[in-house]
Amino acid sequence: MNLNDNVYNSGLSREDAKFKLWRKTGLLLTYKCNAACEFCYYCCTPAKGGLMPVETAVKAYKSLKNLAGDTAKVHLTGGEPFLYYERLVEILKAFQDEGLGEVDLVETNGGWANDEEVIVERLKRLDELGVRRFKISCDPFHQEYVGIEAARRLVKMAKEILGDKRVLVRWEKYLENPVEMKNISGEQLKQNYKQAIDDYPARFTGRAAGKLADMAADKSIDYIRGQKCCRDLLGAKGVHIDPYGNVFSGTCSGIVLGNVNETGLDEMWKEFQPGRNVFIKALFESGPAGLLDEAVELGYEVKERYAGKCHLCSDIRAFLLGKKIYPKTVGHSECYDL
Ligand code: SF4
Ligand code: SF4
Repeated sequence: MNLNDNVYNSGLSREDAKFKLWRKTGLLLTYKCNAACEFCYYCCTPAKGGLMPVETAVKAYKSLKNLAGDTAKVHLTGGEPFLYYERLVEILKAFQDEGLGEVDLVETNGGWANDEEVIVERLKRLDELGVRRFKISCDPFHQEYVGIEAARRLVKMAKEILGDKRVLVRWEKYLENPVEMKNISGEQLKQNYKQAIDDYPARFTGRAAGKLADMAADKSIDYIRGQKCCRDLLGAKGVHIDPYGNVFSGTCSGIVLGNVNETGLDEMWKEFQPGRNVFIKALFESGPAGLLDEAVELGYEVKERYAGKCHLCSDIRAFLLGKKIYPKTVGHSECYDL
């Protein structure tokens, strides 16, 4: 498709910023995870649920191909996708059977990587099933839940089986020099969080809009007012899709643009027009401060300081979700810590 196939773009003049084509999608197999990282954009925990049906994954990939052709890229993530290894394999097989092509990336925290035989079998299977790259998350937030031995074992074996170039570690620095995150005081834990977000700045959405954002909060509401989200929404190169088919733009987790089980990504992209949805329109034109008056009227208490506009946005959305306002756009509830 080309840019003018989108209804919003078709009404713009040549110099206006266009709504970019979605070329990537991240499929969240589940909200369940063996970890509950403080910076998780999707608020995953061992208690969360959801398991993406094979049909949802296939529909997502097919419709992304209709949209982006051979530039379409899919990655599989979670939650922890290896908690549902069999479903992961079923999805990869279905992609092959449908002739959809390779999967760009599978992402894991490596908590399952204790048995070398299991690791070899799984990585070889993923390789046969067309997984191009393998990403292992490794940072202080993950190290609070996943032992460094498992992460190191998985990285070493993945590099042997798939080759160095196909293995990504986020971040190597912490694999070599892990940060002690267990059996330390609450104060030390806070300092380690702070250091980690200073080293690698996070977007304050999902659970990152909780403790971490409060620690980093140094901006007044007046500073955030006027920070629109038009560029974020127009410029997102792709979407994430949750286990229930809910589609989120870029990393704006918890703002539902549509459901891929009902409408393919190609149709959804064609029909996207910020003005059609009151909630999205407010974000587009005024940023999250555009939602503030309504939220305050309903009882939302404005904080003295925020870490940035995404912190404000996530905080207001969690409040609105609790009040069941904008139920079609603010969700899924598993994507929030309420
Ligand atoms: S960031 Fe990843 S590993 Fe951590 S809780 Fe979220 S999904 Fe699980
Ligand atoms: S403020 Fe909300 S809509 Fe805007 S970029 Fe952040 S999460 Fe996305």
